[in-house]
Amino acid sequence: MNLWLDLYLDLYKYKPIKEIYVKSINDKVLVVHSKDEYLAKYVPFINQIIIGEDLFSIQDKHRLNYILVHEYGHKKMNRIIFFILLSIGIFNMIIGVMGLISSVVYFLLSFVKTELLMYYTFLIMFVSLFFLVIGILASWCLELYADLYAVRKIGMKEYFYLLDQRRKNPIIYKKKDFNYFVNYILHPPEKVTELIIRIFHKYIYTSEDIIVK
Ligand SMILES: [Zn+2]
Repeated sequence: MNLWLDLYLDLYKYKPIKEIYVKSINDKVLVVHSKDEYLAKYVPFINQIIIGEDLFSIQDKHRLNYILVHEYGHKKMNRIIFFILLSIGIFNMIIGVMGLISSVVYFLLSFVKTELLMYYTFLIMFVSLFFLVIGILASWCLELYADLYAVRKIGMKEYFYLLDQRRKNPIIYKKKDFNYFVNYILHPPEKVTELIIRIFHKYIYTSEDIIVK
């Protein structure tokens, strides 16, 4: 374990349980205890895949495999493109959120100070939303890349099987907290992912199906 990883785990209150080698991705993943029942992420700065014990112990091995290969897809992405998209995402989202807060402050101030023009509220809000959308799109690109990587690894047949399963048994989130909301925004809707995968379908080769052992 390294210092940065320890700090990261402390920050998010993840308690490390064990590091496990996963054959399908030929890599180690860190299983942690967390309140987040669907925790699975790739942490770029420490180059580590982290998964919550709840998710790691689900019975549906097809789904677990997809999640792990998706996270590995983040790790395998070209580092320069990855960090450019990540920077665009973080930078634009910070500017966007700060701008939206400013527009609300400006709006309230305009009642007190009459020389402030209400019109600027909407201008600041519009520009902030623009930044926010660019940030979100950068994040969607990162996620779509990981999904395309995962589908290329598991094959279209397995992907359609997973889609079908997910439609029959949709995931129900017990807690719709702040983390859930952030995750929801940072990932493209399933329909968008499906559409992009269908478009790239002919470029996706089907390898042997790989299942976590
Ligand atoms: Zn992802």
